[in-house]
Amino acid sequence: MHIIDKVYIDGAFVTPHGTDWFDLHNPATARVIGRVRLADAEDARVAIAAAKVAFPAFSRTSKIERIALLRRMHDALKARRDDLLEAIIEEYGAPTARVAFMADHPANVLLDAACVLEQYDFVRRIGTAEVVMEPLGVAGLITPWNSNAGFICGKLAAAIAAGCTAVIKPSEMSAMQTQIVTEALHDAGLPNGVFNIVTGRGEVVGAEISSHPDVAKISFTGSTAVGKAILRAGAETMKRVTLELGGKSPSVILDDADFTQAIPLAVGVGFGNSGQACIAGTRILVPRSRLAEFEALAKAAVENVRVGDPRDPTTAVGPMVSQKQWDRVQRYICIGIEEGATLLAGGPGKPDGLAGWFVRPTLFTDVRNDMTIAREEIFGPVLSIIAYADEAEAIAIANDTVYGLQAYVMSTDEDRARRVASRIVAGRVLINTYAHEPMAPFGGFKQSGIGREYGTFGLEAFLEPKSLLGLHAA
Ligand code: NAD
Repeated sequence: MHIIDKVYIDGAFVTPHGTDWFDLHNPATARVIGRVRLADAEDARVAIAAAKVAFPAFSRTSKIERIALLRRMHDALKARRDDLLEAIIEEYGAPTARVAFMADHPANVLLDAACVLEQYDFVRRIGTAEVVMEPLGVAGLITPWNSNAGFICGKLAAAIAAGCTAVIKPSEMSAMQTQIVTEALHDAGLPNGVFNIVTGRGEVVGAEISSHPDVAKISFTGSTAVGKAILRAGAETMKRVTLELGGKSPSVILDDADFTQAIPLAVGVGFGNSGQACIAGTRILVPRSRLAEFEALAKAAVENVRVGDPRDPTTAVGPMVSQKQWDRVQRYICIGIEEGATLLAGGPGKPDGLAGWFVRPTLFTDVRNDMTIAREEIFGPVLSIIAYADEAEAIAIANDTVYGLQAYVMSTDEDRARRVASRIVAGRVLINTYAHEPMAPFGGFKQSGIGREYGTFGLEAFLEPKSLLGLHAA
């Protein structure tokens, strides 16, 4: 039983003022494996005050000092890689295929931020002005459960690189990962108050951070509904916001695609992170002229997807993170059937013999883009095939969504794929690949969010330009 009863404020592990406890589960067994004592609004206020006190000195540190700090943070995270990997499996149920990336990513993003900083010029000349990029102030960083350690480190890396101090509100469901990350960052020896971590409920601690006048910036990853609440809460004090929200990404299969490659890729991008991914390609757009061929091959591919024990190296899809998430996915599968979609593989209920929060990898066809399963984010291993007549219709369907986070195009003709990609409204379009580029901007158009993370764009999201005029050129 893991008992986590401390939060991290002003450089120390302290007992929170909050007295509520939250159960942690192993989603592969649905059993309780730990308890976490939650911070409350008072803890959030004390953490914000510590970050505020730390800001003046930290904002004046040199680029070289912050690069050294990010490298130390990277080394400290890397040293805890195996502990993190265990926690991600136990607390989140990520299968072997995914968990290595999730355990490496938190350390890697810190190093990436150090590299960005090395190249970045905080001062530039524009006409007669000297323009200085200045850190915004105290940053509130709020993360979801589907890649908690990675999001904490990615957001903190950008904040630190910019010279901001931070108050982090991780998902309460990921307290074991948070504990390991906090211990590692403590070992890295940051000045007191530069980062503070208060695990608590979103509507309590998250809401306090989002509305507090001493927080200048919010970087949030999570659902679109909560993103809107944060935007509203921050409006009163004009907080700068980066919102990384939901998606309903299209996988556009062009009629020249090689199905031996396109189908495994479409299934892979749909079921990545057990389907609990904002970037999942959940709407598979298939040319009507090749629909029957695609359906037969995709059905076989989905039926072959191994769901089960996350520790089994052949497992591709692990459990849903919680009973609530399992119920949500089941509800959508039932809605799909009720609205007239045809079930090709999977369906309601648990796979045989599995007690945890497992879902049967599910594939629908005969889906219209106005059906609920094509419009709303399901966040589980449920994919929809939508047929289209020609390229123009494929693009229209791809863009007929309130989201615009990511899209996939599969074709043997790169020029054609590029042309289609240029007309899709999404922050990232991946052509015949599922590869991540850590230096390229990441984020969404439309209701998938505001702003970008990673690389120079991610750094500048924590900076504000100041123009100095009247100075003589150096
Ligand atoms: P969520 O929005 O419920 O919660 C995210 C975080 O916000 C949690 O820490 C939660 O405690 C906190 N929160 C909840 N209510 C709050 C409030 N009123 N004020 C401030 N904070 C509050 O999301 P989730 O269920 O944890 O994660 C799944 C969602 O995250 C999906 O919609 C998914 O698409 C999205 N997501 C987006 C990205 C991206 O980069 N675009 C990445 C991963 C997940």
